[in-house]
Amino acid sequence: MAFNLPKTDKKRVVIVGGGFGGLKLANKLRNSDFQVVLVDRNNYHQFPPLIYQIASAGIEPSSISFPFRKIFQKRDNFFFRMAEVRSVFPEQNILQTSIGKVRYDYLVLAAGTTTNFFGNKNVEEHAIPMKNVSEAMGLRNALLENFERALTCASETERQELLNVVIVGGGATGVEVAGALSEMKNHVLPKDYPDMPSSLMNIYLIEAGTRLLPAMSEQTSQHVLNYLRKMGVNVLLNKMVTDYDHHRVILKDGSQIATRTFIWVSGVAAEKITNLDGEHLGRGARIIVDEHNRVKGFDNIFSIGDQCIMPEGDPNYPGGHPQLAQVAIQQGKLLARNLKALEKGKSLKSFRYRNLGAMATVGRNRAVAEFSTMKMAGFWAWIMWLVVHLRSILGIRNKSIVLFNWVWNYFSYAQSLRFIVYARKAKEVVDRQARLASQHWGNDLNSKGVDAEE
Ligand SMILES: Cc1cc2nc3c(=O)[nH]c(=O)nc-3n(C[C@H](O)[C@H](O)[C@H](O)COP(=O)(O)OP(=O)(O)OC[C@H]3O[C@@H](n4cnc5c(N)ncnc54)[C@H](O)[C@@H]3O)c2cc1C
Repeated sequence: MAFNLPKTDKKRVVIVGGGFGGLKLANKLRNSDFQVVLVDRNNYHQFPPLIYQIASAGIEPSSISFPFRKIFQKRDNFFFRMAEVRSVFPEQNILQTSIGKVRYDYLVLAAGTTTNFFGNKNVEEHAIPMKNVSEAMGLRNALLENFERALTCASETERQELLNVVIVGGGATGVEVAGALSEMKNHVLPKDYPDMPSSLMNIYLIEAGTRLLPAMSEQTSQHVLNYLRKMGVNVLLNKMVTDYDHHRVILKDGSQIATRTFIWVSGVAAEKITNLDGEHLGRGARIIVDEHNRVKGFDNIFSIGDQCIMPEGDPNYPGGHPQLAQVAIQQGKLLARNLKALEKGKSLKSFRYRNLGAMATVGRNRAVAEFSTMKMAGFWAWIMWLVVHLRSILGIRNKSIVLFNWVWNYFSYAQSLRFIVYARKAKEVVDRQARLASQHWGNDLNSKGVDAEE
């Protein structure tokens, strides 16, 4: 396989990852003098802030996903290639991917993060992560399957395991999924399963720290805690999950919770580029960059968004920025400007994050929001949450579908997309993926099995 890119005099910018940062950068390089190549393992951009609503059957996966090829239609000098990136060879300016090697003049690493299980292999094997659209669909299927099995299983013990849900991680994602599942318990279960008492479903939200939403103020954490407790979620603070065994989540204090729906949203680590390590990596395996998002030690390699950390350079964020969509978007925008400036021999602008605030929702009429010194909680924060998220989704069709689903769910008191659907891959695709997986395309530039670009 090969990239099959047309030869050109233009300098080539290769962007790894079409998330918030990579997509903004690619968009801002529209009409530039660069040949832009976007590489992503998926053929679509996704909108993580609403992923939890896929898991809770509130919205369709397609309404928060957008195909790259549609975004970049009718654009000269732009090329999308679906591939998995693993290694970079800076001396040769070559990137190694699952479909071959590609040469770059500028490389931008914007591959985001992956779920961090903190080295606990057993937890990794059994827990359900919720980092992207396909994992959220996996969670939705598991939840709904467990409800179905709870009706027909042989023992009370098994029924309780099937109906208990344990969510580990009290950040925004944990809080939002706990709220959505509590609404499902209160409004959907009694109607869908009249022959099974919904009170049997227990939702546990476990957080190792002293409070929920640690990135927000204590007052906001308290609001969210009150909301969730009122909604019947069992919130356990200062509790550390250490293992999972025989359908039991095991806590450090020795206690156990029976469950077959063990959701892990407790942390992230930067996506790995196999031969960038040691001196290049900071906290959470994030790639260390300077104030221009340039990777330490290289002239033409940059990293933006969740995958990088800027420990110095932005006086307001000593130690690095939070891993948020706005950081990635603002870095992508500035980097486009800086790459153009580099070509013209002009000086580069340093990155300064403009904090636009933070918000989270736990369900209908209940959200929290913080903007600089202003704090909001309740109905108006929820309205603001709806508006901000709706505005941020790509595409009018997607906005309309999400809005329709929200209105429908609001009045019907039910998430309506309660399907258990497993995708079946065509044999041709299965065989090709197996072939690619068996090829060696690791740290060795001369490795066999992957073709060179030209
Ligand atoms: C469930 C959830 C909810 C969130 N809610 C919020 C919120 O409400 N507000 C907020 O500000 N932030 C939120 N975030 C964080 C926010 O989504 C991230 O900060 C943001 O997506 C980072 O953008 P990025 O461009 O760095 O990476 P991403 O948006 O993660 O994009 C990375 C891209 O790289 C691709 N990729 C990864 N590895 C490879 C590889 N090896 N080869 C090829 N392609 C690869 C991926 O397919 C993806 O398209 C949430 C995150 C999650 C997971």
